[in-house]
Amino acid sequence: MKTMKCDLCDHTAQGETFEEWMNALKPHYMTAHADVMAQHAGNPEEMKAKMGAWMKENQERFNAAITT
Ligand SMILES: [Zn+2]
Repeated sequence: MKTMKCDLCDHTAQGETFEEWMNALKPHYMTAHADVMAQHAGNPEEMKAKMGAWMKENQERFNAAITT
């Protein structure tokens, strides 16, 4: 199990895998960072690109996180 902070604030989420962590973080992201998500909502291509970059970045961060 890994515990890792949200990339935008100090909220933490846990997961065995990156996918689990992402799912655990999702409800927080939807409420606390809805504005960030809304920024690209009108542009599906940009949204896709941003999501891809976000996932790559956070996957690397997750891989580097210490297992507890
Ligand atoms: Zn956050």
